[in-house]
Amino acid sequence: MEKTTDVLIIGSGIAGLYTALKVSKFANVILVTKKEKTESGTNYAQGGIASVLDGTDSFENHINDTLVAGAALCDRERVEILVKEGPEHIRELMEIGTRFTMSGNEFDLAREGGHSHARIVHAQDLTGREVERALVEYVSSVPNITILENHLAIDLLTEHNIKKLKNSPIDSRHCWGAYILDIENEKVIKIKACATVLASGGIGQVYLHTTNPAIATGDGFAMAYRAGARLSNMEFIQFHPTSLYSTGTSSTREQAFLISEAVRGFGGILRTKSGDRFMGKYDSRLELAPRDIVARAIDSELKKEGEDFVYLDITRKPASEIKVHFPNIYEKCLSIGIDITKDFIPVVPAAHYACGGVIVDSFGSTSLQFLYAAGEVSMTGVHGANRLASNSLLEALVYSGRASAAIKKQLETKSTVLPQIPDWDEAGVLTPDEMVVISHSEKEVKQLMSDYVGIVRSDLRLERAQRRINTLFEEVEEFYKKNKVFSSLIELRNLVTCAYLIVKCALLRKESRGLHFSLDYPASSQDVPSDTVIRNKYQKS
Ligand SMILES: Cc1cc2nc3c(=O)[nH]c(=O)nc-3n(C[C@H](O)[C@H](O)[C@H](O)COP(=O)(O)OP(=O)(O)OC[C@H]3O[C@@H](n4cnc5c(N)ncnc54)[C@H](O)[C@@H]3O)c2cc1C
Repeated sequence: MEKTTDVLIIGSGIAGLYTALKVSKFANVILVTKKEKTESGTNYAQGGIASVLDGTDSFENHINDTLVAGAALCDRERVEILVKEGPEHIRELMEIGTRFTMSGNEFDLAREGGHSHARIVHAQDLTGREVERALVEYVSSVPNITILENHLAIDLLTEHNIKKLKNSPIDSRHCWGAYILDIENEKVIKIKACATVLASGGIGQVYLHTTNPAIATGDGFAMAYRAGARLSNMEFIQFHPTSLYSTGTSSTREQAFLISEAVRGFGGILRTKSGDRFMGKYDSRLELAPRDIVARAIDSELKKEGEDFVYLDITRKPASEIKVHFPNIYEKCLSIGIDITKDFIPVVPAAHYACGGVIVDSFGSTSLQFLYAAGEVSMTGVHGANRLASNSLLEALVYSGRASAAIKKQLETKSTVLPQIPDWDEAGVLTPDEMVVISHSEKEVKQLMSDYVGIVRSDLRLERAQRRINTLFEEVEEFYKKNKVFSSLIELRNLVTCAYLIVKCALLRKESRGLHFSLDYPASSQDVPSDTVIRNKYQKS
């Protein structure tokens, strides 16, 4: 089966929905999403969106804070765009019905780690859910946007799908849509489009402990890589310092509950299991140091003490204020017997955010023509080696808006003839035995990424991870070729590819910078810092 549209958007988080909202003003959109439309990383964002909305703050302050967190690797021009264009998009979200927490007529701005001012716009501690609600409601009411739930993008349509163009140079390739698995009907359809937007979110499920939901299997990174697009800085995985410690479940795709940065901003103190405050040993900003520093400090304390978690203590604050500011965290902890107004909260670092991704220009265009990327899957250059808290929702808004402008220009100025592309080859079978292999392989990737490619790295650990990932990669490819495709197989293939990309970039960086810390190169290089760039030399189908 084949569908055709002006613009295909892959993903229904903030980036996909906001792009759809903008693009629908001049073009028809099909938006595919692999689960229900609200299921996304966005839906779980708690803290909020960083933006300069108060006279006591300034663009320059926000720009500087972002550059400092990024450890000299941010693209200053892109950061300026991010910061200066941010406020107009916050107002646009309000125009479509997003209800942020206000203090009278002013925003109730919170402060988070790494920010010199209070500038986090939030909706209590459920900001992502509120933004997602408003966007889904708006986008669902627009007639020229078709949303297809339970539709999973498998691979992008490019020259390589067409026999006579298969060997065309990678630098002049186009994207004309994607093969999509209709999960309920177990059929692969082709959606052809003049422009395609990857808005498929993050990668956290490549690790054992992550704050990311089950959908975060890095599909967009892997699809773009297979299609020959350029990716960059995949080694910079941000570990959130404080996810709620749990003894774990038997599920392959666990999502750790996040104890927001805002709790530290509100006065939360980190303590060892014996109750000692320890951040003073690591940074003068104490608990409000940037995330990489706090995560490494916790990692170091855990290793020193041989413990599984440290504590976050907010008990010195009035109970009534805690409940007003953090109703969601309060309820969640209470549900497992922890009253955060009286008890310390057990926390551990968990994989949280991918700073690298598919390289885009300042208008969201990737290195493949007619392919755009927005949100966490993209690499705009604003995060450098470490993302400043609450800058990712902002990045998704600002750069989705810009990608929409580029798509408008493309549709107005370039006439796209969509070529004939063969149907998906449905051949293949699956035996129940093989399901076990898939879940075991997924656990294996997560375990080895957590063991060897976590917060503290070394060449030895990375090389060991690389050897094992290469073997897994070959096994999964073999499997993929002989089987009928289905969700968990496609996602496993993508997870293994993403693990490969992270390790490959980590091995390229011979220094410690931002989120990448290597025991072999503990200092930052004195050379002008540069991005690690990778690209697939050949294309596998
Ligand atoms: C617990 C948590 C708290 C956070 N808190 C904050 C915060 O306070 N402030 C902040 O700025 N950032 C925060 N972040 C980060 C931020 O939420 C994400 O970076 C951002 O929401 C990503 O938006 P996105 O649109 O790129 O992706 P997502 O919101 O993750 O959406 C991706 C979408 O793509 C779909 N998808 C994926 N693969 C496919 C495929 N193959 N086919 C079809 N559909 C697919 C998914 O189902 C989903 O709908 C937080 C993240 C988490 C996990």
